[in-house]
Amino acid sequence: MPSGPLTGTRFHRNSAGILCCEGRPLTEIAQAFGTPCYVYSERTLVESYQQFAAAAAEKNALICYALKANSNLALIALLAAEGAGFDIVSVGELQRVIAAGGQPNRIVFSGVGKTESEIAAALGAKIKCINIESEAELHRVAQVASALRLTAPISLRVNPDIDAKTHPYISTGLKENKFGIPMDLAEAVYRQAKTMPSVMITGVDCHIGSQITSLPPFLQALDRVLELVDRLNAADIEIQHLDLGGGLGICYDGETPPTPQALLGAIFERLHQWQQTRRSPQPEILFEFGRAIVGNAGVLLTRVDLLKPGPHKNFAVIDAAMNDLMRPALYEAWHGVAAVSPSAAQEATWDLVGPVCESGDWIARDRRLALSPGDLLAVLSAGAYGMSMSSNYNSRPRAAEVLIDAQGQAHLIRRREEFTDLIAAESIPDYLRK
Ligand SMILES: *Cc1c(COP(=O)(O)O)cnc(C)c1O
Repeated sequence: MPSGPLTGTRFHRNSAGILCCEGRPLTEIAQAFGTPCYVYSERTLVESYQQFAAAAAEKNALICYALKANSNLALIALLAAEGAGFDIVSVGELQRVIAAGGQPNRIVFSGVGKTESEIAAALGAKIKCINIESEAELHRVAQVASALRLTAPISLRVNPDIDAKTHPYISTGLKENKFGIPMDLAEAVYRQAKTMPSVMITGVDCHIGSQITSLPPFLQALDRVLELVDRLNAADIEIQHLDLGGGLGICYDGETPPTPQALLGAIFERLHQWQQTRRSPQPEILFEFGRAIVGNAGVLLTRVDLLKPGPHKNFAVIDAAMNDLMRPALYEAWHGVAAVSPSAAQEATWDLVGPVCESGDWIARDRRLALSPGDLLAVLSAGAYGMSMSSNYNSRPRAAEVLIDAQGQAHLIRRREEFTDLIAAESIPDYLRK
C-alpha cells in the first residue's frame, strides 16, 4: 500500500467508495454540521500520542503536546486523559489546558515574548518550567517571581544553530532565527541565573523547527545540548531535565519522516551512551510535539461552490478559504485533497481556491480531480495548524469542528461561528450614533 496522509489513520473508504471516519461517511457529517468543517478522529489522535508514549515507556520522560498546533478543548481533554504534558506559548493556552482538566505541573511555557502578567499567571498556576528565550526575559521572570515571593523553575531555550532542512518560516534553530539564546552565550546566562534567588534552574531546552523529516538534525541538536550540559555540570550547575522540543514531520505528500519509535529510540540510545561516562543521574527528557500528534488526525471538509474553467487555468471555488486553512497561503504548503464520493464528472486539472479577496487564497493547485458543483472534498492532514491559525478575514465565521469517537459517533466540539460572534467584541462610540 502506498504511504499517504491517510495511512495509519482511521479515515478510509467504505465499499461504496465514500470517505469515512470510523465507518461514519463524511457525507453525513457535512449534512449534519455543514461545511467548511474540521473533522477529527479521536482514535487517530490518541493513537499517535500513544506511539510517542510507548516509545518513551520506562524512560524518565514526559511527552508534551504543543497546544498551538490545535488547541480545541476536547482534544486537550483527550490528551490530558492519556497523561500528556503540554507546551504552551501564551496565557490563553495556559487557561485552555486548565479549562480542559490538564495538570499545571505538566506544563512548559515557551515563546520569545512572555509578558509580566503571563509569567505571573504561569507561576501562580505552578507550572513545571518556563523556557527562557533571552537574557532580558530571565531578568523579567526573576523580577516577577521575586515580587510574588515565588521561585520560578526555568530552563534556557538554546539555539543550537542546526539546519532543520525545513521551510524557512518553520525553521527556528538557526542563528539567524529569533528563537532561543545562542549556544556560546548560554553558559554565561546560566551562571547569571544561578545567582538569582527567585529562579531555580531545572533544565535545558531547544526546539529547532517544524515538519522535520529526517533524524540527523534532531541528533545534531541533542549533541550540542549535551555538550552544554557537560559544561554546565563542570560549572556546578545541575540540570534535571532536557527538553528536546518538537518538530517531527508528518506525511503530507509522500514524505517518510522517522516514526516516533525511531526518533525517540535514536535519542534515548544517544543519551544512554552519553550517560555511561557520567556519574550524574540521568535527566528527565521532555518533548513538545504538535504536528506529529494531531496533523493526520484531522481533515477539512469543504464543498465545491462553483466551477470556473478557463483558457489558462481551471478554478474550482470551494467554501473553505485561507481564513480556514492558512498554511498554503503562508508557506505554500501542500495538502492532499480527496473527493469524498466517487464522481461521474470528467477529470481535469483544477486550482482549488476560496472566496476570499486575495490571490494568495488558494488551498491546492494543479490537482487532477473530477469535480461538479456541490461535490464534497476532504483537505487531508489538516489537524495541525489548521483551525488554530484560522481567522475571520473577510468577515467569514470560523468553521465548525467535529470529533468522531471510536464508535463513529460525531460530536460537535466547536459550533460554527455566527454573525453575532463576529461583532461580539466591537462597539460604535456614542458620538458616531445618530
Ligand atoms: C511550535 C512549537 C512546537 C511544536 O512544533 P511541531 O512541529 O508542531 O511539533 C514545540 N515547541 C515549541 C517551542 C514550538 O514553538
